[in-house]
Amino acid sequence: MRIRVGHLYPDYLNIYADRGNIAVFERRASLRGHELAVEAVGLGEKLRPGAQDLLYIGGGQDREQALVAADLQAKSDAVHAAVADGVAVLAVCGGYQLLGRGYHDLRGVDLPGVGLFPHETVAGDRRMIGDVVLDCELEPGERRTLAGFENHAGRTQLDPGAEPLGRVIAGFGNDGESGYEGCRVGRAIGTYLHGPLLPRNPWLADWLLAQALAHASGDEPQELEPLPDRLETEAHAVSAQRARDRGGRL
Ligand code: GLN
Repeated sequence: MRIRVGHLYPDYLNIYADRGNIAVFERRASLRGHELAVEAVGLGEKLRPGAQDLLYIGGGQDREQALVAADLQAKSDAVHAAVADGVAVLAVCGGYQLLGRGYHDLRGVDLPGVGLFPHETVAGDRRMIGDVVLDCELEPGERRTLAGFENHAGRTQLDPGAEPLGRVIAGFGNDGESGYEGCRVGRAIGTYLHGPLLPRNPWLADWLLAQALAHASGDEPQELEPLPDRLETEAHAVSAQRARDRGGRL
């Protein structure tokens, strides 16, 4: 199958090797005989309805976020419609913040958001930096750990009843207090974890690919054929251990 990926603002939101996440999607799709067609969607460009199976938006500093926020907000209806139609989403850090209702940045400027994720973010004085490990359960009964690296000033408050991506085992997470990290709305996942995220968490890459394939085919998500993942498993273990050794909340 052909999996169509819309990569939002790759020229602006691209810190911490966001391209590495796309490379993982490409490789893991091709090892299963699927082709990834990645299209950049930049400033002033339309998100064409029905043209994507997966949307990706990466991390960026406040400055880059300020440059894209209004343009992204103008794409809100298209993003909501895509997710309602079953398009998968991975939003990392700065992109995760802007897919919420908004981000009150370090200068005190209010950047508008898309309102896909039920949360708001306010920048604090201390940055939350370091390795993180989470306990996730995206499918009932299937518990997995997610390991990554976070670096953000924003504190994200989920609305009551919102579904987090996972519980923080070690690290800060959304706000350093709630014990939650990230957010999930259907097939849309938002997270502060980068580093990049997918090379050391191949199960999440496969979960997102399965959702994107389900959108492309119109079928229910199917589990993908397993891959050896020796190096990926090792990378995950090293990263998770670093986070556990560090412990810590704010
Ligand atoms: N500017 C945001 C913050 O510091 C996001 C940073 C990032 O994407 N790493 O909270």
